[in-house]
Amino acid sequence: MAHVISTGSGVVLDLIRSGEATTRTDLISQLGWSRITLARRLDELLNAAIIVSAGQSDSRGGRPPEEFVVNKDAGLLLAMDIGGSHSRLAITDLVSTILLEDEADIGLGHGPDDIFDWSCQVFDHMLAQLGKSRADVRGIGVGVPGPVDSASGRIASPQLNSQWADVVVKDYFPADYRAVFAVDRDVNILAVSEHRLGWPEYDDAIVLKVGMGIGCSLVLNGRVYHGGRGGAGDVAHSPVGGTERCLCGRTGCLDTVASGSAIERELRALGASVRTSADIVALAESGHEGVAQLLAQAGDQIGRALLDPVALLNPSVVVVGGNIAQAGPVFLDPIRERLLRDATDFSRRDLAVIPAKLGHQAGVIGASLIAQDALFEADRISRLTRNGGASLAQFGDE
Ligand SMILES: [Zn+2]
Repeated sequence: MAHVISTGSGVVLDLIRSGEATTRTDLISQLGWSRITLARRLDELLNAAIIVSAGQSDSRGGRPPEEFVVNKDAGLLLAMDIGGSHSRLAITDLVSTILLEDEADIGLGHGPDDIFDWSCQVFDHMLAQLGKSRADVRGIGVGVPGPVDSASGRIASPQLNSQWADVVVKDYFPADYRAVFAVDRDVNILAVSEHRLGWPEYDDAIVLKVGMGIGCSLVLNGRVYHGGRGGAGDVAHSPVGGTERCLCGRTGCLDTVASGSAIERELRALGASVRTSADIVALAESGHEGVAQLLAQAGDQIGRALLDPVALLNPSVVVVGGNIAQAGPVFLDPIRERLLRDATDFSRRDLAVIPAKLGHQAGVIGASLIAQDALFEADRISRLTRNGGASLAQFGDE
């Protein structure tokens, strides 16, 4: 990539959005621009109503400097987190604060037609509740449980569930949405929200989402690493031994011994019936001995499977999220113990193993954040505001 230093308004917006610099003085010291250049770029953003003046900050004595913030009410973002058996939707403002949310036991297995029919109906209903319409939507972010080609938003092929291979999410939304689309793997949107809002102090992380399946995301240098075709982080099909056949067609994958599905299968053999990963956690909380032991075994297997990735990538933190992680220390401690005992001396030094912080909203907040990032992408904003007169409403699908 060529390193051209941009002087467009998008660079200013990035600094304001991240909170790194929100006053003229701080922006100039970060950017090294002249006052005149900065004033021009701020005018472009103000004229397009992308930012607003938040009044005066009063921290420095004397006449306080003017602060700029994103115009959070200049439109809405739709957020969708599609799970294996359960999905969540939310409508947020332009800084990803949730305004309304909904959820249902519908997921990947229902296929794209059913799930997007459901989501479009619920979004219309929620927009009406807010007194808004599809025309107010600026960005749509969707998390799907499988690799995605992030450049095109096309779900990659092959997928374990073939109904989803090559699906272009945008094609399932009504054509009158003039919104920017952002699509990524479910565990990647979880990693985005957890990293940005939960533990910004760690820039190198392995993030797990353990539900009925096992997802894994890699955050490297503060960004989600997607790999060549969107499939990075696939630890679920690491061979760990055993004779159980996996959905992928092979035997002995981590998913067959340590996922919610594996625990469900073992529980069935013990005569206990559970349907979802939340049921497994509820059973553990009720004091069921068998499930506590299964959760501990699963945690230990996951810890073992992470020994090589931890040595290879030297993360500062392993974050464990997803419904099964809600079981708490009974599941998390064995992961930590295995890693801190058996990882290489170098990689385990200072390694933190922590639970995810944002709970069940992590997915939809992450979906909103990737929609926000796509809407406000720096080069795009610089180009669209350059001639003045643009407004966010024109910034949807170009
Ligand atoms: Zn497998």
